[in-house]
Amino acid sequence: MLKIDAEACIGCGLCEQACTFAAIRVEEGVAVVGDNCTLCGACVEVCEAGALNIPREAGKEPIDLSSWSGIWVYAEYRRERLAPVALELLGAGRRLADKRGVELAAVLIGPGDLDQAAAELIAHGADRVFAAADPSLAEFSDDSYGNILADLIRRHQPEIVLAGATALGRSFIPRVATMLAAGLTADCTELDIRAEDGALLQTRPAFGGNIMATIVCPRTRPQMATVRPMVMKPLDRNEKRRGEIVRVEPELSQLDSRTRVLESVAADLDRVNLAEADVVVAGGRGLENAEGFALVSRLAETLGGAVAASRAAVDSGWIPYPHQVGQTGKTVAPKIYIACGISGAIQHLVGMQSAETIIAINRDPDAPIFNVATHGIVGDVFEVIPKLIERLEKSR
Ligand SMILES: Cc1cc2nc3c(=O)[nH]c(=O)nc-3n(C[C@H](O)[C@H](O)[C@H](O)COP(=O)(O)OP(=O)(O)OC[C@H]3O[C@@H](n4cnc5c(N)ncnc54)[C@H](O)[C@@H]3O)c2cc1C
Repeated sequence: MLKIDAEACIGCGLCEQACTFAAIRVEEGVAVVGDNCTLCGACVEVCEAGALNIPREAGKEPIDLSSWSGIWVYAEYRRERLAPVALELLGAGRRLADKRGVELAAVLIGPGDLDQAAAELIAHGADRVFAAADPSLAEFSDDSYGNILADLIRRHQPEIVLAGATALGRSFIPRVATMLAAGLTADCTELDIRAEDGALLQTRPAFGGNIMATIVCPRTRPQMATVRPMVMKPLDRNEKRRGEIVRVEPELSQLDSRTRVLESVAADLDRVNLAEADVVVAGGRGLENAEGFALVSRLAETLGGAVAASRAAVDSGWIPYPHQVGQTGKTVAPKIYIACGISGAIQHLVGMQSAETIIAINRDPDAPIFNVATHGIVGDVFEVIPKLIERLEKSR
């Protein structure tokens, strides 16, 4: 609960201006806090009179930040494969570690021999890899993966821990943050270090993607962030890089899990192979209906690409959700992204603007999609797409 020292408060109103939740007001010369206060601390930081305070939990002393050092990446590893996001995070982690002048380490958790995966992580920038192996880790469990990672963090005290915002990362990383009473910023799109105090600047879309918010965790360690796949760039593989592999033997109690896996069923990824496709053809509300949307599938087929959609198309039931690109869908970075009848709302753009070439087809010359497009075609999708298909088929 935010505490207000009415004697010290000078009623200047700085807190009122700083509060994005309209949770604090100055009434009769004194600040008054409402129920919608989120304890974000923005008002405490701007209060020049020192009249605002968020008391820490009783018995909880502020931690010694200087005893936490190094950048860690949780390197997701499933079915003998490293998730590409692990290498992307090492690229980002290397830059942050060099800026801080600290070590970059990766944590691998899985069954069997992890040496080959560990060597791959070193070739992509890790100075050290903690490899925790046990046959029972073949199936992912929030309990065992969370116990192992939290224990390693407690013992080695890295200042920053990064993980992929994948299904697995989203499942157990919040649990680890809770076990450590640390802050966690989900779905970051940009990471940097604040020069004056080494704080991790964690930038992510907020308020429905209308603003980019930069979040810091100044009082707790580690600073934890998840990042969506395909947002950061991996370093080039360098086999000459040297690093240390630290083998970790998980304790029996850490392997305990309240979940029992009865069966694992692989999703039919071939049909929605958006993340790996070089060419993605996406359709939006401009296609008007499911029959119209079929044109997008035909164009994708002609180009040997994958089909994607805006949320409007998915919500209309023309195509299932796994094809949605954007803030609440997938992030893609293909060589070519063709946006057909898509306006270019910010929530869509965050999922596709890293594409190498963006081609937009829209009948509205002022559609925002043209601001990010490499090539724009102002025209009716029902005229342009059939002509494109015809031309492509002829040129074969
Ligand atoms: C919290 C939140 C999360 C969201 N997440 C996502 C997300 O993950 N992905 C996403 O896509 N959206 C998301 N949205 C929705 C987003 O704000 C937009 O509403 C959505 O992207 C619009 O889809 P659209 O471009 O297909 O439709 P519209 O915005 O309606 O655009 C249709 C476009 O088609 C053009 N058009 C119409 N007819 C034709 C024609 N015959 N030929 C050529 N052009 C034509 C129009 O000029 C227009 O530009 C989210 C919104 C919120 C609030």
